[in-house]
Order: sequence, then C-alpha cells, then structure tokens
Amino acid sequence: MTETTLPTAFRQRMHQQLGAEYPAFLDALQQPPPVSIRVNPQKPVLPTNGLHSVPWCSAGFYLPTRPVFTLDPLFQAGAFYVQEASSMLLAEALGQTARLQRPLRVLDLCAAPGGKSTLLASLLTPDSLLVCNEVIRSRVPVLRENLEKWGLPNVAISNHDPEDFRALNGFFDLALVDAPCSGEGLFRKDPEAMLEWSEDNVRICAARQQRILTAAAPLLCDDGLLCYSTCTYNEEENLNNAAWLSEQGFEPLSLDLPDAWGVVEKTAGKAVGYQCYPNRVQGEGFFLSVFKKKQRSSPEMAVPRAFRSMKPVPNWQQKTLLSYLKNPKAFSFYVKPNGDVYAIPEAISAELRVLDSALHNKGFGLEMGTFKGDDFIPAHALALSTAIAENLPAIDLTREEAMRFFKKENLVLDKPVKGWLLARYEGLNLGWLKGVGNRVNNYLPKEWRIRMDIKEY
Ligand code: SAM
Repeated sequence: MTETTLPTAFRQRMHQQLGAEYPAFLDALQQPPPVSIRVNPQKPVLPTNGLHSVPWCSAGFYLPTRPVFTLDPLFQAGAFYVQEASSMLLAEALGQTARLQRPLRVLDLCAAPGGKSTLLASLLTPDSLLVCNEVIRSRVPVLRENLEKWGLPNVAISNHDPEDFRALNGFFDLALVDAPCSGEGLFRKDPEAMLEWSEDNVRICAARQQRILTAAAPLLCDDGLLCYSTCTYNEEENLNNAAWLSEQGFEPLSLDLPDAWGVVEKTAGKAVGYQCYPNRVQGEGFFLSVFKKKQRSSPEMAVPRAFRSMKPVPNWQQKTLLSYLKNPKAFSFYVKPNGDVYAIPEAISAELRVLDSALHNKGFGLEMGTFKGDDFIPAHALALSTAIAENLPAIDLTREEAMRFFKKENLVLDKPVKGWLLARYEGLNLGWLKGVGNRVNNYLPKEWRIRMDIKEY
C-alpha cells in the first residue's frame, strides 16, 4: 500500500488527528501487518517457547511469518485462533473491569466470525453463559464452526437483530458490542476495506452503532458492563458514541495501561476510550471503551420450568450418552424434534431455559449426536468439545493423514477396526471415523472439508 492509495479525505482526517505523528502512521501502513494467534487454554498443545507474547493478552503470541493456517491440523482442531493482536486488548480491559472469577451472563452482540467470542469464552468460568449473536445469517456458520472448534459447552449462538433481544432486558452482566464500522484500522491488512470507505459511510456506521448500543443498553443488569469496540480511528464513530453512552446512564471506566504498550487514552467530556495505532503497537487499528450501567431497574426474570424447543431423552439412551463425557454429572440430556441430542450444562440450565423462551433463532448446549435405532451416531461438535471423555477409542494420525482427514478422504489402516473412533493429532481430537474392516469411513461434515490442495504444501 502506498500513501496515495489511501482515500484523500481519510488522509486529511488522520493528519488532523495525529499531527506530528502522521508520518510515522503512514510509514507503519507500508509495513507488513504482524501475524498473531491466541492459543486455546483448554487445548494446550501448541509450543509457544521463543514466541513474543502480546503484552495485553497472556494467550496471545506473534508469529515471525504467516504459515498456511488452513493446512495446520492444530488450527483445525481449535488449538489456536488467528487474531489480530490489538483486538486482544479486550482481555486486559475485562481483566481490569469485570469480575471474571464469578459466573457471568455474557452477550457478544456482533459476534461473527468469532474472534472475540472465543476470547470471551476463554476468559469466563465454566459456569458462565456466553451468548454469541450474529445478525447476518450467512455469517452464522463460520461463527458456529469457530466456536465448535474452540470446544466450550457453555456457549450459545443466536441469529437476531439486536432489537429482538428485548425479552432479555436486564439479563446480562456483560455485553460486548464489537460494532460494524468503517474499518479504517484494517486498511493495511485488508486493502479492500479502503474501497468501501467514505465520509458518508463513516456517518452511516456511527448512526448504526448508536442504534446497536441503544438496543444493547437495556439488556444489562444493574452495574452490568458494556464494552464498545471498533476497528476504526475516527471520532465520529468511537469517541462520539462513547460520549453519547456516558450521557445515557453509563459510567465510563478508566483502564490502567502501561505507557510502554503504546495504547493511546482518548477522552471526550466524561467518556474515555483506548485507541491502538499501528505505529505505536504491534497490531492494527482498534478502539475500545468500557462502561458500567448506572440505572437500577433490572426486572425479575421468570425462569421457565422446561425447555420449549426440546424434551428430556428417554432413560434407555442416557447410559450411552454418559459414556461419551468426561464429567457426565455436569449435564442433562435433551432431544430436539429432529432427533438431535444435546447435553445441557446443569450450571446454566436455568439461564438457557430463559434464552430458549426469549429467542427464536438460537442453538445452545453441546450437540451429542443422534440415535438411529439402537445405534448412536456421535456429532462432530462432540469430538471437538473439551467436555468429551478421554478414554474413547481413538487413532493417532500423522500430519499427512490428518490433512487427508480434513480433505474428507477415507483412511486405510494396517489392522482392521470396528465402530466409532476419534481421529486424533498430537493429542487433540479432529473428528470421527468409523471402522469397517481395514477401511475407516470419514465423518467430517462435508461443509468442513478443506478445498486447498494439500500436496502444494
Ligand atoms: N466480533 C467479531 C470478531 O471479533 O470476530 C467481529 C465483528 S464485526 C466487527 C461486526 C459484526 O456486526 C459483523 O459480523 C456484522 O455482520 C455484524 N453487523 C452488521 N450490521 C449489524 C447490525 N445492524 N446489528 C448488529 N450486528 C451487525
């Protein structure tokens, strides 16, 4: 990218915003974007020795080069997520402001593709509930795939407009609005973002963000936290909306960030926000602000006695289901009208019943599989779940075999095997195989098959 490829009005605005720092900012945009990943603490197999860590997130690391992540079985197994480093500032912000040791009800209102959802999931206690919502239906499958790989059973997914959450007013302890924005902070990483940029679009984004924040505000309980973030620099979207929120009964919270990190504190009236610039941090443009709700008006929420969308499984199926889980007593089992069986974490069962009655387009609990007659067909999500039993039959694959598994090829074994087997790579489950003589059939869902030619690499 050269300076002249940047929209003229954007250049003028940044010059005005940054003053003497503007040349350094332009210079940073000519450099390749840093590559960073965040490891999954529940699937700790990736060696991180010798990698530089992201200062504000203990699970974040910079890589010296950009590998082909698609062809890494550990990536496919959910051992890490590829995430731009500045966005991981959320970990430090919530570490300083939220009571993360307690069970919390958390909403990620603009969630796809799931970068911050997987980060939130790792920050929360296992008896917390994380609801990941994405309004655009076509973006839900990638969100689901990323969350299934991450493997935590206390996560729900929904597909709703923020205004559809009204029935959950006062329900959440923490809401993240990682808002759709003009994307100025991504110009280096994703030059396409420049094509959509205009001053008009900045105004449209700012107004859209205010609508989303307006819908999010009532969803929080007394003293609940609202975190608003964007990947842009302009004040119309960031600080103006933060200032507006601070006039709507939300108290802006200050963070204590070491100067050496290079994150810039910005203020407007009572509002305070934190901005990452690529010339100051090893990361892209990102803005974040955290607020505490001041009003005290949370309604009491009635908890339905049963799930609306599913029924308890018959007793005769319980024994099979129990054998698939590490800690089966922590779950109860339900079946949907289509026959899919889910394990519902007992610790958040009441919260999930509330969610079940409040939202139409949602999924929650750990998908276990389906019964076909006496046979149980385990689900792919179960294989990837951190809740799966450790003593199930499994076969360790080489890297090449693992990639063939992700190409959805059937594998040929030296010894005949029968029945369900977990495909495993470096101790992590990849999915299910079923032995039929010397051949094992591959049960990777077809939409998860990787299309890249594995022989090229
Ligand atoms: N949080 C995500 C992550 O970390 O991977 C990135 C979210 S992206 C910045 C913003 C998301 O908001 C997009 O997935 C987009 O589809 C969604 N979105 C677009 N318009 C929206 C609206 N009116 N209300 C809520 N979400 C919207």
